[in-house]
Amino acid sequence: MGLQQGLTSTADPERMLADLRALAELTGNERGAQRVAWTDTWAKAREWESGLLAELPVSVDVDEAGNQWATLEGESPQTLIIGSHIDSVPDGGWLDGCLGVLSALEVLRGLARNGRPPLTVKLIDWADEEGARFGLSLLGSTMTTSGLEPDYVRALRDVGGMTAGEALAAHGVEVERMAQARSRLDQAVAYIELHIEQGPVLEARDLPLGVVRGCYGTERWEVRFAGQAAHSGSTPMDQRRDSLLAAARVALEVRELARRLGGVGTTGRISSEPGIPTAVAGVSTLLVDQRHEDPEVLGELHEQAVQASRRIAAEEDVEVSWSPLFRIAPIPFDPSLIESAAAIVNDIQGTDVRLPSGPLHDAARVAEFGVPTVMLFVRSKRGLSHTKEEDTDEADLALALNALDRLVHERLAQGTRS
Ligand SMILES: [Zn+2]
Repeated sequence: MGLQQGLTSTADPERMLADLRALAELTGNERGAQRVAWTDTWAKAREWESGLLAELPVSVDVDEAGNQWATLEGESPQTLIIGSHIDSVPDGGWLDGCLGVLSALEVLRGLARNGRPPLTVKLIDWADEEGARFGLSLLGSTMTTSGLEPDYVRALRDVGGMTAGEALAAHGVEVERMAQARSRLDQAVAYIELHIEQGPVLEARDLPLGVVRGCYGTERWEVRFAGQAAHSGSTPMDQRRDSLLAAARVALEVRELARRLGGVGTTGRISSEPGIPTAVAGVSTLLVDQRHEDPEVLGELHEQAVQASRRIAAEEDVEVSWSPLFRIAPIPFDPSLIESAAAIVNDIQGTDVRLPSGPLHDAARVAEFGVPTVMLFVRSKRGLSHTKEEDTDEADLALALNALDRLVHERLAQGTRS
C-alpha cells in the first residue's frame, strides 16, 4: 500500500540538482564548498535555505542548539524527521550533507502540495555536523540528544584562538541552553537521512543505492611500547629492546585482525623516540582505530589486538600499555525502517544492498537517543569525499531522491505509533 502511494512521487530531481548547483555557486569557490559551521558563509547558506522554505506552507525556526527546522503540520503531532546538515568541511564537496537537506526539501515540496500529511513532517538541518572549526563532530545533534558538558564546549578554541562560546553566540546560540533542543524530539517517531556514501563500496558493486544498517562502533587507543634506547652501531642484534619493531608488528596484527574478523582496523601513526637513525627506538607509540558494527566482534577485535601486543612485547623484550582515546558502541538502525528502505531500493535497482556506515552521522545520535532511524546511501565516485573531487552521477542522485521520497511516503502511510 505504502509503495503504491510512493509511486506517485512528485519529487523533481531537476529542481533538486538546480538547488544543489545554486548552493555550490553561492557558498563555494575554486577549492570547493566553504560552509564551515558558525561562519558567515554557513549563515548565508542557511539564509538561502530559509528563502526556499519560505515558498512552502511550513514554519521555519532555529532551536537552542542551532539546528534549523521547517515544520509541515500533519494530522498527528507525531513527527517524521528528514534532513541532514548544510555545513561542510573547508574545501569540501558539493554533496556531503547538503544532498540530504535539499533532497528532503524537494520531498517536502511534494508533500506540501498534497495538503496535510498523516504525520507532521519536519525538515532538519543539523548545526555543525562536521566539527571542522572546533573539532567536535555532530555538535548540534549531540547537544540535542546525549549532550555534552557546556563548560567543555564553550572553552573549545578554533585555530585563530576564538572560543566556541564566542563563535556560537555570534550566531545566536548560548552553549548552556543547547540541551533544551531535546524537546524537539519529543514527538519524533522516525528519522530518515539520505547521504552520499563517502566510500567505495557501492561503486565496487556497481550499484547506485544502499541501505545503512547502522554505524560502526569504534575502539581507538594509544599503545605505548617502552624498550631501551641504545646506539645503532654498538648494540648487537640479539641484545636490543626495540620498541619500534614491536609497534610495527602490532600494526600488521591490526590489519590481519580486521581481515579475519571483518570491520576495519587502522594504525594511523607510529611515533618513536629518540627518532634518529643512530639509535634503537626506546619508546614508540601507535594510534590504533578499530571499527565494527557488531559489539561482540568489536570487543574481540580489541581484545585480540591487546593479546597480540603482549605476546609481541614479550618476544621483543619491551613493555606495553594501552590507553583509551575514544570508544563508542555500534549504533544499529531501526529494523522495520531498514526493511522498508531495502524493499524500495530493491525495487529501484533489482538488488537490496545493506551496509554499515564507517563514519558517524547525525543519524547515529538520533538512533542512539531512541528514535527509529534509517539512512540511505548513494554511491560516491571513487569513494571520495571531504574534497572538491567528491561527486555522484546526476542519474544516481535522481534515484536517491526517488528512494527517499518513496520511503517517506511509505512511513507516512504507516501512520502513528501508539
Ligand atoms: Zn556529511
